[in-house]
Amino acid sequence: MSLPFLHENRMQVLPPVTNEPVLDYGSNSPERERMLRALDDMRSNPVEMPLIIDGKAVRTGRLDPAVIPHEHRSSLGQAHIAGAAEVEQAISAANRAHKDWSRWPWAERAAIFLRAADLLSEKWRYILNAATMLGQSKTVHQAEIDSAAEMIDFWRFNCHFMQRIYADQPISTSNVWNHVDYRPLEGFVLAVSPFNFTSIAGNLPTAPALMGNTVLWKPSTTAKPAAHFIMALLQEAGLPDGVINLVYGDGAQVAQQALSDRAFAGLHFTGSTHVFNGLLRQVGENAGKYRSHPRIVGETGGKNFVIVHAGADIEAAATAIVRGGYEYQGQKCSAASRIYVAESVWPKLRESLCDRINTISVGPVTEFRHFMGAVIDERAWAKHDGAIEHARQSGTDRIVVGGKTDKSEGYFVHPTLIQTDDARSRLMTDEFFGPIVGCKTYPDERFDELLQLIDDTSEYALTGSIFATDRAIIGEAINTLRNAAGNFYVNDKPTGAVVGQQPFGGGRASGTNDKAGSILNLTRWTTPRSIKETFNAPVDYRYPYML
Ligand code: NAD
Repeated sequence: MSLPFLHENRMQVLPPVTNEPVLDYGSNSPERERMLRALDDMRSNPVEMPLIIDGKAVRTGRLDPAVIPHEHRSSLGQAHIAGAAEVEQAISAANRAHKDWSRWPWAERAAIFLRAADLLSEKWRYILNAATMLGQSKTVHQAEIDSAAEMIDFWRFNCHFMQRIYADQPISTSNVWNHVDYRPLEGFVLAVSPFNFTSIAGNLPTAPALMGNTVLWKPSTTAKPAAHFIMALLQEAGLPDGVINLVYGDGAQVAQQALSDRAFAGLHFTGSTHVFNGLLRQVGENAGKYRSHPRIVGETGGKNFVIVHAGADIEAAATAIVRGGYEYQGQKCSAASRIYVAESVWPKLRESLCDRINTISVGPVTEFRHFMGAVIDERAWAKHDGAIEHARQSGTDRIVVGGKTDKSEGYFVHPTLIQTDDARSRLMTDEFFGPIVGCKTYPDERFDELLQLIDDTSEYALTGSIFATDRAIIGEAINTLRNAAGNFYVNDKPTGAVVGQQPFGGGRASGTNDKAGSILNLTRWTTPRSIKETFNAPVDYRYPYML
């Protein structure tokens, strides 16, 4: 992997960066044609998904199918599952690759990820979108904004953030030259990714790798095809062997092994709060064992609110609740899941919501007319089905619209709106991660109390939004809810953060808030060294006051 970099005497400036345009896949558009062909191809050619360790395909023969959620009797192929021996191999490969990769010039590393972004923008766009549509049951629009646009943005913007970090240098004086060497961490990074965003799956291993680290990557068991194709794309873009090592397998087992390794140097996790808490405990138990104190980044769950104030634009609020609550079946960490509505506007909002929700079609995402596909697996389906049944039985909740579930062909849960009288019920506090939105009305004149209630109802603090026109009301919400959301929206849905525009992440039980898609995240993957060089060093130890 060592490269003779002969042309180091140059200042390199990266090409300018803008957000990747989102294609619309309208009927008769060329992108729709290509997308349909890619879906057919992937559907009819099951893929074998080996582990990728030190750049080589590793087959264990222990196989796990990649089930299609909206058609659960079919699969996209089989992945090989790692055991302890393969995890050990992957850690060793990452440690070996560290020696060279950590010394690569930054612009050479950037070139690999910029190339990956361009490959994804064209040739790989349809492959990765197809894997995300079929493997995770996203509609074409949801796949496009995730596995194409956001993934490309992460790669291009991260290169720019890296350039800005390296350019940030201390002041020097006439006799002293100071500089900072932004070293990679001394060891490997464990990246553990969730099922719900292909772009997050791609970002978790590549952000540390871009900064010169080497990585053990454990993707979600329910998003294996997306991981398989991301890895193949990165290899085509020229990622050297061993820099990212992909292992499918049981999260608890892989993490237990990786977190007890002396060379473990960082965790880049996105997923549920309880899994992250378990990982934090393990790191704590191993404290003192590591070569250096590990960097821990964990972006986790949410119970995201929408406030509809009496002065709100009701049609805009209804559209935002429908998109924010039900797109991708409510399986976005940022999804709207608790709604607070002023009593005076509830009848009108309720009618607008019912009108919209009753027209939502749910079904296989390969039929482009559908707004929603299936939830990710049977466990998720059973959880949502149970929550809806609980609402039916409860004396405090009423199903306003929806409530239908069906798992005969795929794991379908229809968009469901539930009104409650109990502001602290599970409906308003727990993350269901499905298309279930809880709703509570409040007396118009008790807006101040409402803000306090929202602030202390849930342990999470990821996203939230307010629909209002009165500036004083908007200002009060921004102030009182300062710590209730890491991403706050005014007259907009609480989902859909864009890399480079709304750095994303939450506090409290929602994570370490290291803001994916911003310079803040990348700074976590470097451990700076300050270098001071004195040009004309003193030769007399005594100070002037002594003479
Ligand atoms: P999850 O916690 O079930 O799984 C995440 C990853 O952890 C997967 O790779 C899984 O295999 C692994 N894992 C599971 N159990 C483990 C264990 N005991 N030890 C180690 N690893 C383990 O989450 P998910 O269902 O894939 O994703 C949904 C969750 O992720 C939701 O809570 C959602 O809010 C959150 N999320 C947060 C953000 C954010 O930016 N804050 C973004 C996306 C998703």
